Amino acid sequence: MIIVMKKNATEQEINNVQQVLKDHGLGVHLSKGTDTTIIGIIGDKSKLCDTCIESMDGVQSCVPIMHSYKLASRDMCPEGRKVNVKGFEIGGEEFTMMGGPCAVESEDQIMEAAYAVKEAGAQFLRGGAYKPRTSPYSFQGLEDEGFKLLRKAADATGLRVVSEVISENQLDIAAKYCDMFQIGARNMQNFRLLKAVGKSGVPVLLKRGIASSIEEWLDAAEYVMSEGNYNIVLCERGIRTFETATRNTLDISAVAVVKERSSLPIIVDPSHAAGKRAYIESLSLASVAAGADGLIIEVHPNPKVAVSDSAQQLTPSSYIDLAKKVRAIHSTMMSFNSDLQK
Ligand code: PEP
Ligand code: MN
Repeated sequence: MIIVMKKNATEQEINNVQQVLKDHGLGVHLSKGTDTTIIGIIGDKSKLCDTCIESMDGVQSCVPIMHSYKLASRDMCPEGRKVNVKGFEIGGEEFTMMGGPCAVESEDQIMEAAYAVKEAGAQFLRGGAYKPRTSPYSFQGLEDEGFKLLRKAADATGLRVVSEVISENQLDIAAKYCDMFQIGARNMQNFRLLKAVGKSGVPVLLKRGIASSIEEWLDAAEYVMSEGNYNIVLCERGIRTFETATRNTLDISAVAVVKERSSLPIIVDPSHAAGKRAYIESLSLASVAAGADGLIIEVHPNPKVAVSDSAQQLTPSSYIDLAKKVRAIHSTMMSFNSDLQK
């Protein structure tokens, strides 16, 4: 349940309501918007009298939340959350661009990718150091050495690092090198890992599971948030369907559904959805137009020799060209939106 406070509710009135909830042993999550303050209740509220709360000074209404996820729901934060990663706000006015190779392969490779991604105007360098591969015989990543190379390339170019973590035991080391942890599609329901990244407080890029519903995905986000880490960005990366022309099917409707149901920012990964370079541009432009907050795209200095996902990685020049088109659509949409508000 959430308690919506009146627009003119005083600090004292907000505190009084929180105190009553705490006295009932309930968890309290305060969300202060520009207009409205919302108090979310977590825990067993069976002993709480809704009508007594509704009659307290400053309270406008008590609204039940029907979903299993609460903190991740739109009701808890109607104006939407922004996730700050080293001074850059994902979900804010500026469109988020992440780019880099599927896997970190060598210092030269990641440096070259980083300079290209920076030239395109991206804010984040991606690259897998730990690669959870379908086959145990495929390249598994450079591991901690990969993190170090990512950090070096990001520092040389002024980018932020986003990279996948696959186990709770590695988070302390990963936090030394990464600005944002990626939870991959295969680990979306690894609940111990979700809780551990929740405790770490490090911003999280939570990919949608290969065959997960939007509700299961938001429940996964709730695991992270219930540990006190609200810095989550969702990433739609395609789901498994009967279609074989593409590697996965990009569920573009997930952008609209998530925007309606959740307060969390959402970005799109067209690379793992398409699986083919030729389709990346079209899916990227569609994602921006659908209202995504950003894109994460695989970029390799020489995709033909990439040790993983060779068919879907863009060359530096095609990423730079694509970024220009993406920004053109994004700024057109922003100016339409601001005209509509006038
Ligand atoms: C990746 O981003 O390199 C990756 C493995 O993605 P996903 O978890 O979406 O398959
Ligand atoms: Mn990949």
